[in-house]
Amino acid sequence: MIVVKSKEEIEKMRKAGRIVAEALDAVTKEAKVKVTTKELDRIAESVITDAGAKPAFRGYKPDFVHCEPFPATICASVNAEVVHGIPNNRQLEEGDLLSIDIGAEIDGYYGDATVSVVIGNGSPLASKLVDVTRQALYSAIRVCRAGRRLSDVSHAIQVVAESQGFSVVKRFVGHGIGTSMHEDPPVPNYGEPGNGPVLKPGMVLALEPMLNEGTSDVIASPERWIVVTKDGKLSAHFEHTVAITEGEPDVLTVL
Ligand code: MG
Repeated sequence: MIVVKSKEEIEKMRKAGRIVAEALDAVTKEAKVKVTTKELDRIAESVITDAGAKPAFRGYKPDFVHCEPFPATICASVNAEVVHGIPNNRQLEEGDLLSIDIGAEIDGYYGDATVSVVIGNGSPLASKLVDVTRQALYSAIRVCRAGRRLSDVSHAIQVVAESQGFSVVKRFVGHGIGTSMHEDPPVPNYGEPGNGPVLKPGMVLALEPMLNEGTSDVIASPERWIVVTKDGKLSAHFEHTVAITEGEPDVLTVL
């Protein structure tokens, strides 16, 4: 069931979204050669807790995983890692493609966003994958208008990805968000337009294109968090939490 939020609820989500944006901003500024993803995790955690919010991923354990609850504040996924990377002590290297996914909860409402960056000087291909994944997200955001259908949003992502020679991950999808981090509806990153629920003011969606350099196939096991590309090639991920309004799409995960 899709829960439509009131204007008051959207303002609470904007507060959560701003904290997520602050944490992402702080982390991306420090994401440099020789820094570990564990150090980035500590930075995100202090931004979130200093703001009076809670990291949304720490302790998270959906039904489909059979491993320990997620142990960190951020998901840090490097190169062929698609999503759900656990921060560790490996030092970032020149040219690494790093995706940082952060969620926060305050006053019972959630925000969720992701940024991908290339560390130092990367390959033109890594930079292109990051740029196209960001473009796919913004193309989807532009479709988030009352009266459009949900699959119009999905389709927008697929068109950008495939027109640039990349593939979209199908195994993991975006989602509704509000008083839970994951609510209805699921938001695939692919599909024909004109299907699914009609978008209405007050719906809030976490759009999160995951684009791969090569095959869209991923290796995901219920025994572990990390998801990697099947062919070992690069993957990038961007995400914003977006509210449908009477007019322009309202991106909540911004400073
Ligand atoms: Mg999400």
